[in-house]
Amino acid sequence: MTIYMDNAATTKISKNILDEMMKILEIEYGNPSSIYSIAQSSKEKIENSRNKIAKSLKAKPKEIFFTSCGSESDNWAIKGIVNSYKEKGKHIITTKIEHHAVLHTTEFLEELGYDVTYLDVDEYGFINLEQLENSIREDTILISIMFANNEVGTIEPIKEIGKIAKKHNVIFHTDAVQAIGNVDINLLELDVDLMSFSGHKINGPKGIGVLYIKEGIKITPLIHGGAQEREKRSGTENTAYIVAMGMAFEDATKNIQEKNIYVNKLKERLIENLLQINGVYLNGPVENRLAGNVNISIDGIKASELLMFLDMEGICASSASACTAGSLEPSHVLLSMGKGEELSRNCLRLTLNNENTMEEVDKVSTEIKRIVGNLRK
Ligand code: PLP
Repeated sequence: MTIYMDNAATTKISKNILDEMMKILEIEYGNPSSIYSIAQSSKEKIENSRNKIAKSLKAKPKEIFFTSCGSESDNWAIKGIVNSYKEKGKHIITTKIEHHAVLHTTEFLEELGYDVTYLDVDEYGFINLEQLENSIREDTILISIMFANNEVGTIEPIKEIGKIAKKHNVIFHTDAVQAIGNVDINLLELDVDLMSFSGHKINGPKGIGVLYIKEGIKITPLIHGGAQEREKRSGTENTAYIVAMGMAFEDATKNIQEKNIYVNKLKERLIENLLQINGVYLNGPVENRLAGNVNISIDGIKASELLMFLDMEGICASSASACTAGSLEPSHVLLSMGKGEELSRNCLRLTLNNENTMEEVDKVSTEIKRIVGNLRK
């Protein structure tokens, strides 16, 4: 039996979403740009999905753009904005703990001559608002700070960051790939100009993303071609995946508080159990943390070995983010939090959702205790 505790890496697609996608792939294969009726019904479905997403974020449908993944949304937000506002300057502010979809993009831009400030974080992964404000210059064109961290679950003060960005007239992008479905997001209450999302983190399929772009923000396309997505993101629309994204968004943003009460209970029990093992430390904050995120470092235990033994028991977990798991690199997030090389390498991330149970939590805790004991012998 598989126990899946890697929901920050990806989630299982919901059955009703998969069924709907299959129907569309098989029957409604028309190109939404064509004029006959099966194509027009595809177009309608796309707009319906856009409306659903806009409604759940309290945004306007015309502010929602479909992309191929969270990485594309991040790339587009950053590259599209810096190109569009290049007259103003070449300075970007981000943090040291972003996902590589942001960090590798800003590193690429540095090669092109952009100047990037990487904000520090404290031992829990929180940025310092004063450091942020002091970093803003005349030529700052963009602030990109993630909503919630994928490794340690830290939820950044997005409302306050937005206020600072607005006060200084700087565009603010946030990567909300891990936040959506875990945190209530109401765009009417946030001074955010661009926000990235990904389908496969919320029980939708891999290969679909969304970028919210506030009305009035100018952005250069990342992909040029046809006139799709109001000439901002070319490529024949992936109707089945777009419909799936709308369904996933609607489900994920329903009853968040209720789901979090349940998942928090699982998380608290898991943390309590794991901290009973000698030489186990919790990474990340207690407050303002994603409900399902547990991240620990274990003295003297190699994450790759622990993960292998867990896999033999049917338990799916990860070390750093999925993209770097398996590599022996220490986590850049934990290093930035001052955890040191050793503990930044020997970390284990377990991410729960409302499909996990208390029995699973106890079984996983017991197995980790046993495996750590054996490895230490
Ligand atoms: N941003 C964050 C915070 C993530 O956790 C991920 C995926 O792990 C991404 C971006 C990239 O999303 P995608 O896998 O859809 O490209």
